[in-house]
Amino acid sequence: MKFVFPNSLLALLLVACGSAPPILMYHSVGGGASDAFTLEPAEFSAQLDWLSAHQFHTITMRQYMDFRDRGAKLPDHPVAITFDDGFADAYSVARAALAAHGMVATFFLVERWVAVDAAHRYAQTILGAPRSYVTWDEVRALEAAGNEIGSHSLTHRRLSHAAAATLDEEIGRSKTLIETELGHPVSAFAFPFNAVSSAARAVVRDAGFRGAVAGDHGMGGAMNLYRVGIYRGGGTEALSRALGESWTDAVMR
Ligand SMILES: [Zn+2]
Repeated sequence: MKFVFPNSLLALLLVACGSAPPILMYHSVGGGASDAFTLEPAEFSAQLDWLSAHQFHTITMRQYMDFRDRGAKLPDHPVAITFDDGFADAYSVARAALAAHGMVATFFLVERWVAVDAAHRYAQTILGAPRSYVTWDEVRALEAAGNEIGSHSLTHRRLSHAAAATLDEEIGRSKTLIETELGHPVSAFAFPFNAVSSAARAVVRDAGFRGAVAGDHGMGGAMNLYRVGIYRGGGTEALSRALGESWTDAVMR
């Protein structure tokens, strides 16, 4: 039987008691779109102001997992901010807003959507609006500011019913390629569309990820972490409600 350190036991108890740090899911700030996944910069800044005013302290997913795995110390009122998809505004808008508040986030990238440079920037139409994505230099700048980079797969395919070879490619290969670019291990994964299956979770774990987030499908467990979605127009009220509820939702689901 595996020996459990008291700190780890404490961490497990805290998670079981619903005091695992909440994880917020964002996608885009600014970016020239007005869909539910895209917040106006002013709304995002107001939410960060609210977090500051309520003494929340942002943590990266690595800090979250250090706490979860071995009871590492966290700041008071910890909250993990995450961004999916690697929109260009992660660098051009969110980075400065976070830095102005002394905050950090974890950015989950779709590896094939990250360009080698601005001249080759990846772009596509999402929900009727033209969208563009970050470059590797911008990703490195996000990291240099204290943010964490995670994988959101290779091509953003739905993985819940994917074949084994596809899972290996989307999960394992995305990890290898991002690590090659950044020169260090990547430890967190976000399921595209928050679509999960036990097979996909097993591949994520076997690929060496320490944790994976699964939106409101998250049922607990390191490879199935619950996230609260934050959407356009919800303002600080939605944030307040999400943070209040997330502590109990993590256990009740
Ligand atoms: Zn996504």
